[in-house]
Amino acid sequence: MPETHLVTGGAGFVGSHLVLALLARGDRVVVLDDLSTGHAAAVPEGAVLIAGRIGDPDALARAFAHGPFASVLHFAALSLVGDSMREPYRYLAENAKNGLALIEAAVAHGVTRFVLSSTAALFGAPTTIPIPEDEPIDPGSPYGESKAWLERALIWAERIHGLRSACLRYFNAAGADPGGRLGEDHRPETHLIPLVLDAAAGRRPPLTVFGDDYPTPDGTCIRDYIHVADLAEAHLLALEALTTRSVRYNLGNGTGYSVREVIATAERVTGRRVPHTVGPRRAGDPPVLVASSRRIREELGWAPRYPELETIIAHAWAWRQAHPDGYRQPR
Ligand code: UDP
Repeated sequence: MPETHLVTGGAGFVGSHLVLALLARGDRVVVLDDLSTGHAAAVPEGAVLIAGRIGDPDALARAFAHGPFASVLHFAALSLVGDSMREPYRYLAENAKNGLALIEAAVAHGVTRFVLSSTAALFGAPTTIPIPEDEPIDPGSPYGESKAWLERALIWAERIHGLRSACLRYFNAAGADPGGRLGEDHRPETHLIPLVLDAAAGRRPPLTVFGDDYPTPDGTCIRDYIHVADLAEAHLLALEALTTRSVRYNLGNGTGYSVREVIATAERVTGRRVPHTVGPRRAGDPPVLVASSRRIREELGWAPRYPELETIIAHAWAWRQAHPDGYRQPR
């Protein structure tokens, strides 16, 4: 039986890839997105797009009028660690307020399954690497804190209203749809792989490596890059699990790559140099974030189809080469 889902932030990078995966299995999708960072052109054909803010009761009502929804998947949020260090109260307030309004509306409309885009930023100074789910939550930034609050709020939503939830802590989402239909286009772009690729293509100034004095083998930060299509697949599995129970999963490949290793891999994949310089550290960046995804592998049978950094970068490069202006129409 096809189901209908509400996806907030479905015009964004990870959200749009999930919409594609839901449509591919025959489900119906309603996207609520204020298009402040997402793109209408990223919403796959077949989904209904409601351009509006979660904080606008009219927009929320218009979205829920398309229900009943089998689930609500919440991607829309302020999501930059660095920005959250400069504007902590905006991050805490907006992410919490919107998340709570959505949870409340989901409960009021009888929704029983809720998926939260959570984050590796829950773990500011992890003691166990790769990071398992029972690592204490101790965010290193207001962004991470805002997601920790929502994870806690969802515990109360289940206790009081029976709303089951999946909190999926993404590590570094990257890559692009292997079929070339969707890609990554943030404005402004702050993420490493798109910046590296644009530097290689000469479309941007040289990359600045944010610090090379971290306690890592080459001094640059280590992250766990996970293909966006593998993330989408994890959401589909989490939706199944939610028919019986709530879940919390860390989602990565379990392998970390330093900024310098990403640059070197991108040079191999593109056959071009990546011009770069070394600058100061970026506030809020932990030295190493690598996920243990053992729990989701064991419990749901999730296995990444594209675990190789080469493949992740190759898919991102292919989309970027085909869409040098991203989702913006060239004039
Ligand atoms: N990074 C960098 N230069 C940039 C952008 C990012 O050195 O212009 C580093 C950043 O410090 C981090 C890693 O690349 O260690 C990944 O950063 P990104 O912003 O892509 O994701 P995050 O880890 O913040 O979610």
